[in-house]
Amino acid sequence: MSNRLWNTFRELCGIHSPSYRERAFCDALIKRLADLNGNFFEDNAGSKIQGNCGNLYCYIPGSLNGPPLLFSAHLDTVEPAEGKKAVLHENGCISSAGNTILGADDVAGVTVILEAVTRLKEQNIPHRSIELLFPVAEEKYGAGSSVFDYSLLKAKEAYVLDLSGAIGEAANAAPTIMSFEIKIHGKAAHAGFAPKSGVHAIAVAARAIASLPQGEPIPGLTFNIGQIIGGESNNIVPSLCTVRGEIRSLIHGAVLSYWDKVRAIFDTEAAKAGARTEAKNKVELKAYETPLDSSVVKRFIRACEKTGIPPYIHSTFGGSDQNNFALHGITGLVIACSMHEVHSLREYSNLYELENCVRLVMRIMTDQEEGIQ
Ligand SMILES: [Zn+2]
Repeated sequence: MSNRLWNTFRELCGIHSPSYRERAFCDALIKRLADLNGNFFEDNAGSKIQGNCGNLYCYIPGSLNGPPLLFSAHLDTVEPAEGKKAVLHENGCISSAGNTILGADDVAGVTVILEAVTRLKEQNIPHRSIELLFPVAEEKYGAGSSVFDYSLLKAKEAYVLDLSGAIGEAANAAPTIMSFEIKIHGKAAHAGFAPKSGVHAIAVAARAIASLPQGEPIPGLTFNIGQIIGGESNNIVPSLCTVRGEIRSLIHGAVLSYWDKVRAIFDTEAAKAGARTEAKNKVELKAYETPLDSSVVKRFIRACEKTGIPPYIHSTFGGSDQNNFALHGITGLVIACSMHEVHSLREYSNLYELENCVRLVMRIMTDQEEGIQ
């Protein structure tokens, strides 16, 4: 077990790095990449997405044949994270002090990548050329990776360290995530003197929502109304109600057609009451599926087998930077890197798992094309 692994995790975890405010975390990483003699640069994503930091890229040349392989982990964490501190328990478990998230999502991924590259260098192990990409604002639907200039990348194969689950798990498919907002415009009136002359926007929203089951209304598609805002005062018939939510499915077209259905239901209820709707949507992330016979999957399985870790490839219902990479022709897997119960105060990691993930990632970095080894 490497002390350095724990020290890196602890140090990085101690840096506050919420989405759009990743500056200090990025600076700490730049220092470490400089120590590794990596050729790195930071792009101008910060100014494009109103953050204080850009995406960090690094190139590490290797002596093995083949185009570079891309490894990625994001710089930001969800909140509450201010003052977070990693606590190491006797069984190797790493938790936060309890009143913040741990931020293993994605400190674990960053730590594993740094340790793997460091070991390759200090042990002089021949490896593939490696590209590293540390995007900002992943937790905001991949805002950072959505503005990266992909013409700068040579890799066509990515390993994104950003998945919960046992080491050896990897996601080869992720959903389209569409967020939406529907405004129902009714008509204000005095609730006591003239209720019938008003058009009740909240009641229209309620009727529409009641006929739209929440959760998984059709197999493989999730629908969630996450926010309702409406009304002005107890004695006014509400003239406006705003409803926000999201739709997810591994099938992009299924999300688009469900959105049509949602709109139609709101429009119908609005028309019945004499209200009108104003709807907008945004495809935050687009679904992708990495074929099981692609080189990225084969290489991952080969590396698992050589490390003695059972591989398990499956789809996920969460988005990641890989959704954006796929849009630019990069075939990738999102791989588990010891983060559990993420986005909660119960979040934890494990030093033994981190160590196994380092060994696995080193195997990938040193894997030659089939037939050559
Ligand atoms: Zn993450």
